[in-house]
Amino acid sequence: MCGIVAYIGDREALPVLINGLKRLEYRGYDSAGVAILNKEVNIYKCKGKVSDLEQFMEGKDKTGKIGIGHTRWATHGEPNDVNAHPHQSYHGKFTIIHNGIIENYARLRTRLEERGVKFQSETDTEVLANLIEYIYEQGKTDAELAVRLALSKVIGAYGLVVLCADEPDKLIAARKGSPLVIGVGNEEYFLASDATPIVEYTKSVIYLNDGDVAIIRKEQLILKTSGQDMSVPKVTELTFDIGEIDKGGYEHFMLKEIFEQPRSIEDTFRGRVRPDDLELHLGGLYQVMPKLVEAKRIIIIGCGTSWHAGLVGEYLFEDLARTSVEVEYASEFRYRNPIINKDDIVIAISQSGETADTLAAIKLAKEQGALVLGICNVVGSSIPRETDAGVYTHAGPEIGVASTKAFTCQVTVLAMMAILVGKKKGLISEERFKNLIHEFTLVPGKIEKILTKADSIKKLAALYKDATNSLYLGRGYLFPVALEGALKLKEISYIHAEGYPAAEMKHGPIALIDDKMPVVVVATKDSSYEKIVSNIQEVKARNGIVIAVVTEGDTVISGMADHVIEIPDAENVYATLLSVVPLQLFSYYIAVMRGCNVDQPRNLAKSVTVE
Ligand code: GLU
Repeated sequence: MCGIVAYIGDREALPVLINGLKRLEYRGYDSAGVAILNKEVNIYKCKGKVSDLEQFMEGKDKTGKIGIGHTRWATHGEPNDVNAHPHQSYHGKFTIIHNGIIENYARLRTRLEERGVKFQSETDTEVLANLIEYIYEQGKTDAELAVRLALSKVIGAYGLVVLCADEPDKLIAARKGSPLVIGVGNEEYFLASDATPIVEYTKSVIYLNDGDVAIIRKEQLILKTSGQDMSVPKVTELTFDIGEIDKGGYEHFMLKEIFEQPRSIEDTFRGRVRPDDLELHLGGLYQVMPKLVEAKRIIIIGCGTSWHAGLVGEYLFEDLARTSVEVEYASEFRYRNPIINKDDIVIAISQSGETADTLAAIKLAKEQGALVLGICNVVGSSIPRETDAGVYTHAGPEIGVASTKAFTCQVTVLAMMAILVGKKKGLISEERFKNLIHEFTLVPGKIEKILTKADSIKKLAALYKDATNSLYLGRGYLFPVALEGALKLKEISYIHAEGYPAAEMKHGPIALIDDKMPVVVVATKDSSYEKIVSNIQEVKARNGIVIAVVTEGDTVISGMADHVIEIPDAENVYATLLSVVPLQLFSYYIAVMRGCNVDQPRNLAKSVTVE
């Protein structure tokens, strides 16, 4: 969460910072600010979006070739002008931007206040700025050492960039638990919390590791570990282009990303699923495959949409590979006293690869001796680096805060893994394997077909845009789809929505049903079809409104539901990939019609790097 951007070089810093903040706004958008060093440090910051900041800065001096910028997702202190970053220390020597949480900020603040240090804001970040300056002044040290010593007193997580007025030729950056990427240009460097603001300037990047401190001058980068040892920066090449982080003619990133799904699933397949080949090629798992095949139990961990993908994974692995699976919220798993055996395999799912709770759960599982695999989208992010092995989803950058293509690509990876393990266990015959692969390759085309119905889904959305509550039901593989559909609706349209296994309805939620309650039922033809037909009858008997996602040509449910959305027939295994798409569109259109900011829903932000 929160977006950090910084620049040092021969360009004017401001355009780099503002462009970067706009690209990062999906990570936090309650306030924004920049600090630019010219002869002195000029700080401009205000509540609101980056566009508000631009207006606020009109007519002011913004020149300078070194600068830092921040778009905030508040953790400590309400979103207002004063709490916005950058924060400056009490004598103005240090200006910093920070992503993360300083957990012991209250104690540090009290100690500094006892020594006469005055604070302006309520943030944990200002405590860090003041602590750095206090150490700098007391210890008569240089900026780098002051930063290091201050960080050694801090408990919590940070990705931060520091500007020191006394040492105006450099930026100091440090990371622990919150991501930071450095873009390497020609006598210039770009810093950001992810690579999206960097890719338009350079594809050569360095991902900082936890504990790293970087001292960056325009002509020189020095990287040191927490132990002060110099380390050789590992430069990697970005795998995406600038075009992939633009809206590409769509009104919102979310809509673009929904429509990208046929392509993104194909990218996830690429080189891995070959129609005429009796193999699935998951290079990232090659070495661990024997252990995956022998695993007695798989524990899948994730948060939000990734947790829903994990639930689909449970059905896939149990169905196709007969491996017992538990799916856990990373945030709960890490604070329980979970039983993890040495022959368990933990699969961590995260779009960003930076989810703080998932990262912490990975560390716990590793400490207890489990093999940990990752399914992530962002190449080079923290989770792929922390895990023993894994598979990238290759969905391309996902900018919309509500996850869409990341979900379907995560499910695609889980399906490939389960099929492969099932085959290696001898549970899937050659014939069935061929069919599964053939069916898999048809999924993108079937999603294309669903997308051609966007207009009719939009019309349906217009009928229900004013609902205040809704229920989403599904059974088997389609239960996680119901959860995901409900999550999409609530996160972007602010309509209260609950997902339930259809059979659970009569144990509580049925009490909510009346003639104003839309009930979205995911009811494609599978083994529990007859049962879900009965559940629909139960809703209708109580005057509920049924919107059903059904298999093309279904006449039974069409005869009883108020509205049906038809999707192409597919194997059970792939029904999730298809049936979630109309639910994404339905939520999207409702949110747009309600005037909600679809790409940046209130209170949410992408890439949850705080716990
Ligand atoms: N904890 C800091 C604050 O509340 C940083 C939050 C963020 O990551 O945006 O200002």
